[in-house]
Amino acid sequence: MQVTLLGTGDTTGTPTPDCDCDTCREARDRGVERSRFSVHVRNERTDEALLIDASPDFRHQFLTQEVGLPDEAVITHVHFDHLDGLGNAYRLFDDLPVHAANEVDPLTDESVAGTIRSKYDYLDRVTVHDHAPLEPFETCGFEVTLVPVVHPPMLCYGVAVEDPETGAKLALTGDTNYDVPDESRAVLADADLLLAEALVPAHLCEHHPLGGDHHDENGVPQTFGTKHMTREGALALADDLDAAETRLVHVSHFYPAEEAFEEPLALDGEQYRL
Ligand SMILES: [Zn+2]
Ligand SMILES: [Zn+2]
Ligand SMILES: [Zn+2]
Repeated sequence: MQVTLLGTGDTTGTPTPDCDCDTCREARDRGVERSRFSVHVRNERTDEALLIDASPDFRHQFLTQEVGLPDEAVITHVHFDHLDGLGNAYRLFDDLPVHAANEVDPLTDESVAGTIRSKYDYLDRVTVHDHAPLEPFETCGFEVTLVPVVHPPMLCYGVAVEDPETGAKLALTGDTNYDVPDESRAVLADADLLLAEALVPAHLCEHHPLGGDHHDENGVPQTFGTKHMTREGALALADDLDAAETRLVHVSHFYPAEEAFEEPLALDGEQYRL
């Protein structure tokens, strides 16, 4: 399994357009980027590739990273930064099967799969496949499981990708706060590589109108507001899930410049062989 981090940023990315903050300036100076979230997972056994989330930066990512176009895709949730790249399927693919959860979201009255189907109904090369959360399905020679996470007010899923032949395992949390349910944690546990979302460092919770939540024993918030994990929350989750290696993703430009390029914060283009 070859994992390429195509996009490791949050919804505005780093550098953020027209932003002159120290972190965005430092990113420009270093020539590094955190584009909107997407992960490319290649199955070397079957010579197939699975895309996890369709970034609005899809075109840029496939022009700058040395990976082929995917054979299938999985979408974690319907926020812009994870879904809106799917329109790139037009004329690039004859057929792009897209896998997503079938649970109806009371907020939208649609499942993630249903929203993708209605939003891209003009694009006949996108075929949507519905899956029940926590029930593994097969794609690109992998066993894939969508697991419920907590990203209010909308439904969102983490993803476990396992190669049943080699035993290699990738886990990613999706956009979530720290309160990931135990049954989801069990599926994400013991991965060779964990991609944990870590929007901001915990000390920035003081700038959120709702502050932080899910404080640890030292009073450090593991959730920023209600929807995302802090860096400290992501690291605590990684500890709980006992991954062999962890990279922090969905990283925003709000990290102070002196923290934004520290380990284990990921950058676009990182590649792992599991
Ligand atoms: Zn900035
Ligand atoms: Zn989101
Ligand atoms: Zn997001």
